Amino acid sequence: MYGHGVSPGISIGRVEIFKEFDEKIRKRDVIDVKHEVKKYLQAIRVCKHNIEEEYSEIQKKFKEENFDEYHNHLEMLVDEEIIEQVKREIIGRHINAEFALKNVMDNYIGIFESIDDEEMNHRVMDLKYILLKLLKIMISFSETENKKSGIKKIIITRNLKTADTTKLDLNTVIGIVSETGGETSHSAIMAKALNVPAVVALEGILSKVKDGDEIIIDGFKGRVIVHPTDDQKKEYLAKQKRENERKEKLKEYINKKTITEDGHMIELSSNIATLNDIPGVINSGSEGIGLFRTEFIYMNREKLPTEEEQYIIYKRVALSLKGKPVVIRTLDIGGDKELEYFEFPKEDNPFLGYRAIRMSLDKTNIFKVQLRAILRASIFGELKIMFPLISHYHELINAKQILQEVKNELDKEDIKYNNDIEVGMMVEVPSAVLISDFLAKEVDFFSIGTNDLIQYTVAVDRTNEHLNYLYTPYHPAVLKLIKMTIDNAHKNGIWVGLCGEVAGNESIIPLLVSMGLDEFSMNSNEVLRSRYVINHISKKEYAKHIDEILSLRSCLKVKEKLLELNKKYNCFYKIFE
Ligand code: PEP
Ligand code: MG
Repeated sequence: MYGHGVSPGISIGRVEIFKEFDEKIRKRDVIDVKHEVKKYLQAIRVCKHNIEEEYSEIQKKFKEENFDEYHNHLEMLVDEEIIEQVKREIIGRHINAEFALKNVMDNYIGIFESIDDEEMNHRVMDLKYILLKLLKIMISFSETENKKSGIKKIIITRNLKTADTTKLDLNTVIGIVSETGGETSHSAIMAKALNVPAVVALEGILSKVKDGDEIIIDGFKGRVIVHPTDDQKKEYLAKQKRENERKEKLKEYINKKTITEDGHMIELSSNIATLNDIPGVINSGSEGIGLFRTEFIYMNREKLPTEEEQYIIYKRVALSLKGKPVVIRTLDIGGDKELEYFEFPKEDNPFLGYRAIRMSLDKTNIFKVQLRAILRASIFGELKIMFPLISHYHELINAKQILQEVKNELDKEDIKYNNDIEVGMMVEVPSAVLISDFLAKEVDFFSIGTNDLIQYTVAVDRTNEHLNYLYTPYHPAVLKLIKMTIDNAHKNGIWVGLCGEVAGNESIIPLLVSMGLDEFSMNSNEVLRSRYVINHISKKEYAKHIDEILSLRSCLKVKEKLLELNKKYNCFYKIFE
């Protein structure tokens, strides 16, 4: 079966069908009810400990804060009445603890919700908060038991949500296959960051597999083989070995400079989503972080991260990179990235809706907390701030104004920060490209976000598996917009990078270098291959082809031409043939 390969590599393992949070708390008949009661009581202890720790941390820092919320949570957690009811449910009905707890709590929530009173509204919020926390803890217990089995798993799913990718256990998950999605769905980007092969848009795979089936996935070709024969296994093991050898050979590029044959230095940086990605950045020979997708700090939790929590993370990144540049993109939530605890407006077109900077400019309290945290951490390294999805000039001006207000507040409080911190913006909407001459006068740098730029230029939802054939960086319109952005940046004396998935695409890298792109930011796993490509081309020589490439009318012709040039200049490092 063939889908769309979005993260390269080969894996051979056993199927595990991905279960949504809701499925994990569905009713299950159990025999060992004592085990379920024990699990529930243990979860209460862990939860109590977590809340108390959180409480004492905050108490230390903000002495005057109102702590009623914490007391309410603790009270509810150890409420005898609730505990007894849940135990009775488990034992009396022989059911799992997760379902029993949800049943009992939903009952209370329903009663309180029916009373129109502010106090009751708070109780409902507290109950929901505790319920979610306890369910997550109980599920994590079960998952730890699973992990101990050590079996290498290939996750099969209908649609892997972006936040789910951060929950995958890297010690056991060695591949991902989904029925939906595209090359730049955030889940595909995360699979690449996890360095596991992934195939998306494989319609019908779920009806063909069950838990435990043997399976091979080939992320280069988008191929999936269920129940492979011995010969197929042998063939793929040999391919895996060759792939590893080619990767090993590339390591000679770790300490090399990124410089074209005719002496142009290029900056090669990494994209990160969490602190877990930092070792990958450091070991990849990367020259900095060109995109920190901070929205992942906000995911898989029950409420917004505090200023202190964010400050600790940004400080850690700054210190780990030891003076190398780190571009921190402010919150880019919405589109295909959701927060469990934040109610987004119901929209028909989320990618055209309440997203990224639009939300930050609306919820300035959330935006300011993040800016404060970044500024405070800016004294520990070379941090830069970047605003996502600017589509209007006034959005950039407003965002900068808010940044200035935050700086003024810090000044008043005598808190140190780097007042010269560079401020940039993502260019990922055609309207921004077309006014990039004006925008460039307001920032220190641009970073081109091709994942969104393609979807907004060609009017194709980047996650729609039925339209993958139209979603392509080889569209002449996309290449012209990129060139226009680079030209306008340079005309105004600012540097320009690119941090969409195109940055690691070997067939386009030479063209981007020849157009004058200053920085490329990509998945750390792609850094060495990209350095190989850049070090094998002459910017001046390749630039002779720009006009010809931009005069081609179809994507296919563009792609063919780029591949032909890659051959001509011998600047293609194929990990795997
Ligand atoms: C982009 O749009 O190219 C980009 C880098 O941002 P994201 O993929 O997070 O939307
Ligand atoms: Mg984007």
